[in-house]
Amino acid sequence: MQKVEHIGIAVKDLVSSVPLFEKLLNSPCYKTESVESEQVNTAFFRSGTTKIELLESSDPDGIIAKFISKKGEGLHHIAFEVADIEQEMERLRKEGFVVLNDKPKPGADNKWVCFLHPKTTNGVLIELCMERK
Ligand code: ZN
Repeated sequence: MQKVEHIGIAVKDLVSSVPLFEKLLNSPCYKTESVESEQVNTAFFRSGTTKIELLESSDPDGIIAKFISKKGEGLHHIAFEVADIEQEMERLRKEGFVVLNDKPKPGADNKWVCFLHPKTTNGVLIELCMERK
């Protein structure tokens, strides 16, 4: 795996969290994007070469809404950039990790993404991502 590409944080609403993170990072939100298949609205910030991705549920029954009702707002996932996502999924499956997607799926920020089940990664949801070309 290459660098930590971004860190995903679940928030109740972008309206209040975007200005908060702009203040915190002293850097403007440079992109917002909705991913309908994931029922999520996202907002991105840069922090050096890593990004912060805020995730707001666009549906009261969406995954982020469920996450927040169970655990509250906060760290949702860590995303690693990989050179070849299918190869990395294969490698991790062989190593015994539970890869949650059969195939990479289109994610926010022009990426192919997949997730590893937190039960096999010490409770941390791990995302693999690769630039969509
Ligand atoms: Zn992400």
